[in-house]
Amino acid sequence: MERALLDVEPTPDNYTMFIQAVKKTACACIPRGCRKEYIAGLTEESLQLLESYETEFGNDPFSDTTSELGDALTESLGRERRKAWQDLIENINMTQNSKKAWSTIRKLNGDKITPPSVSDITPNQVGSQLVANGRRAETRRAKGEHHSTVIPGNQQNMSILTKPFTSEEFEAGLNTMKLGKAAGPDDILTEMITHLGPVAKQWSLNMYNTCLLTQRIPSIWRKAIITALLKPGKDPNLSKSYRPISLLCTTYKLFERLLLSRLSPQIDAELIKDQAGFRSGKSCTGQLLNLTQHIEDGYQKKLITGTAFVDLTVITKAERTKQAIDNRHLLHEHSAVRKRLGSRSSFLDTSETLETTPTDARTTEWQKQWNSLGSQAAQWKERGITPDECLATGHDQPWAVWKTLNRLRVGEGRCKASMKKWNITTSDACACGEPQTMEHLMNCTQAPQCTGDDLAEPTAAALACANHWKDEI
Ligand SMILES: [Zn+2]
Repeated sequence: MERALLDVEPTPDNYTMFIQAVKKTACACIPRGCRKEYIAGLTEESLQLLESYETEFGNDPFSDTTSELGDALTESLGRERRKAWQDLIENINMTQNSKKAWSTIRKLNGDKITPPSVSDITPNQVGSQLVANGRRAETRRAKGEHHSTVIPGNQQNMSILTKPFTSEEFEAGLNTMKLGKAAGPDDILTEMITHLGPVAKQWSLNMYNTCLLTQRIPSIWRKAIITALLKPGKDPNLSKSYRPISLLCTTYKLFERLLLSRLSPQIDAELIKDQAGFRSGKSCTGQLLNLTQHIEDGYQKKLITGTAFVDLTVITKAERTKQAIDNRHLLHEHSAVRKRLGSRSSFLDTSETLETTPTDARTTEWQKQWNSLGSQAAQWKERGITPDECLATGHDQPWAVWKTLNRLRVGEGRCKASMKKWNITTSDACACGEPQTMEHLMNCTQAPQCTGDDLAEPTAAALACANHWKDEI
C-alpha cells in the first residue's frame, strides 16, 4: 500500500485512489473466516478425549473403554460449559452495559422475544420527512441571515489557523477518534487509519494540508449514509417516528477534529467567561457552584437573588461526551455511580399508590393530623373550620368581613391583648375598659355579640360582630 501511494499526488481528487489502496490492503491483510465445526466448551483436553473416543467408537461402539471415554468427555465438556456460564454471570456489568444483562435475564426467564414489527414506511417517506424538518433552516438563510464565517481574532492567530497541520496534530486528532464505529460512504474504518504505515499517514496529512490550502475537499466527503432508526415506543407506520443518523467518512471526521483542535482555543478566548456550555473545562457542576456562591454572597449583604432557568437538555449529552474525551474537563475520567439501570425505570416503588383521588388523600392526611390536635381541633370545628378543601363559610361576604370571621373563629388576630404581647402597643384595654382578648371581641358590651355557633353558620349576629371589628383586627 505504501508503494502504491508513493507516486500519487496528495490532492482531494486522488482520494479515490487512496480509498482503493486502503481497501485492497485491507482485503489482503485482515484475516477472515470461520471455524468448521463448533462444539461449546471444547478445550485441548477434551479435544484429545474426543479424538480417542472417536477411534474407540470406530473399533467397538459397545466396549467399556468407549463408554468410559464417553463419560469422561461429557464431564469435561460440562465442566468447561459451567465455567463459561459462571464467567458470563460474574462478568456481567449492570452499570456499564445493561442491554446485555437484560437480554440474559430475559433469556433465563424464558420471556418471549417479540420480533421487530415490519412497517409500510418507505425510505422515500422518511426522506421527505427529513427534507421537511430541514426546511426551516433553509428559509431562514434565504431571508439573508447569513452565518458569519469570519473567525474573530487578529492577523497573528489567523496565521495559526491556516498553517499546515503537523504530524503531531494528526496523531493527536487520530487518538480522539472512537474505534468500533461504522464506516461512512468510503467504507474506511477508523481502525484502518490508525494502522496506516508512515507513508500512508504522511499522504493523508499532505492531503489534509492541500484541502486547507486550496479550500477544496474530496467530493465523497460531502456524502453521508443516512439510516433511519425507529424511536423507542413510537408508531412504526409514521415517518415522523424515525430518527435519522448519518454516517460520514471517517477521514472527513478526522479532518474536522484537526480543524476543531485549532479553532476551539482561538474561539474560547473570545467567549464571555460566564459561558459554560459547549466549552471544555467547564461544567454544570461549576455553574451550580457559581450560582450558590452568588446567592450566598447576596445573602451576606442582605440582598435577594432572582434567577431565570432555561432548560437546554441537549447540552448535558454534549457535556458528557466532552467529559469523556477532553482531559482538561474538570470531571475527566470521573465516572458517576449510577443510581439505577440506564434508560429503564426502577425496580422499586418508592412511593405508595393512591387508592383515592389526590384531593381525598390530602384531606384524609389533613384529618389525621387534625384529630391528633385534640381539644383545639374540637374548638375549631365548633367555629365552623373543618379539615377539607372547601372555603370556610362566609366567603361570599366582602373580604374584610370574611377575614375577620376567620380570625374570630381561629382565635388569632390583632386584638389589643395580642398587640401588647407583640410589643406594638402598651395597653390591652378595650373601649369598654376590659382587657381585649380574642374571646372578648365576641362578648364586648360596646359591640354586637355572638357565639361560636353563630360564627360557624355565620348568622346575622356573627356578621354584625365581624363587621364591627373588621377594621380593628
Ligand atoms: Zn370591649
